Amino acid sequence: MSLLTKRVGRLDSSGIRKVFDLARTMKDPINLSIGQPDFDVPQAIKDAAVSAMDSGKNSYTPTNGLVELREQLIADEKSFTGRDYPLEQMLITSGVSGGLFLSMLALVEEGDEVIIPDPYFVMYKHLVNLNGATPVYLDTYEDGFGINPDRLESLISDRTKLLLLNSPSNPTGRILNRKELEQIAAICEKHNVLIVTDEIYRSFSYTEMVSIAEIYENCLVLGGHSKAFGMTGWRLGYACGPAAIIDAMATVQQYSFVCAPSVAQTAALACPDVDMSGHINDYRVKRDLMYNALSDHFELGSADGAFYLFVKAPEGWTGDTFVEEAIKNNVLIIPGSVFSERDSHFRLCYTVPNDKLLQGAEKLCKLAQQKS
Ligand code: PMP
Repeated sequence: MSLLTKRVGRLDSSGIRKVFDLARTMKDPINLSIGQPDFDVPQAIKDAAVSAMDSGKNSYTPTNGLVELREQLIADEKSFTGRDYPLEQMLITSGVSGGLFLSMLALVEEGDEVIIPDPYFVMYKHLVNLNGATPVYLDTYEDGFGINPDRLESLISDRTKLLLLNSPSNPTGRILNRKELEQIAAICEKHNVLIVTDEIYRSFSYTEMVSIAEIYENCLVLGGHSKAFGMTGWRLGYACGPAAIIDAMATVQQYSFVCAPSVAQTAALACPDVDMSGHINDYRVKRDLMYNALSDHFELGSADGAFYLFVKAPEGWTGDTFVEEAIKNNVLIIPGSVFSERDSHFRLCYTVPNDKLLQGAEKLCKLAQQKS
């Protein structure tokens, strides 16, 4: 009998592990691989965390999370999407990762299919596989990383359980516009398909950002504080949507995570008082800087949000071979194959100081010129 389960055997971390193995050999790299903001948690939120600890708010919270925080997030959702969730339809999770984990555990199993637009955030396919379901990839390369409604409809079968959306997207930075969302909603409505929408980058939008939840009711929204407030290590997020799903996720949370970190929950009550717009503007500037520095030598996607560029490797390279060469030249980027069934692109994250960005861009452009 084998020690480890077949379930865990279905997970494959070789792609990203290879990159980080290579990265270990680098000295003081220009690191464009990190998928998180470079700003620290705002002082007011840190102060709120310290005060939460000092005043003894250190115990378990209710499974679903602190009522005040859920009320606050319900108000945020109402102002952003127009949906007014009752308290029982809002669950505080341990990051969006926690929300994804609970939702997949509650929603998918052997025999189910989950439609995942490709490129995708790495965790999606692994969580679907972990639960014995089958990822069905919706290729978006020919559609500017948007969603082609005909292509989407052609993938829906009687086994389709849900569509997993991510806008703004990691790794492409693409935001799905209102027209695209309306087309997606119409198809999902026609076939009665649930949408799980990961909106962790909602606040990093450099163009209009609409939530599919505004348009489509049969939707589970996942959001979080990690990126918006530089709190990646604090493990805080939320899920809101249909009562039966939130209820099932809360039951699983009860026997797994128990609750999201209590100090982080109390501290997050201070989030609405903090103005993050300066950081968002900084990232818009970085996006433009990097976009302009690369656009003569590379084919780039539209980069409407988040803090990534998804870049086509130049003629003659695959994503993997280009990244290997970039790493030899001390620039750390991630091959697109980590996020995709294709191997033609690479992802870079522009949350680094501008001088580093420009140094990185210069090296990447030089490499592109070498081959051509
Ligand atoms: N979804 C996406 C698209 C992400 O990029 C990330 C983090 N890289 C997550 C979810 C997980 O975030 P959290 O820290 O909230 O678990």
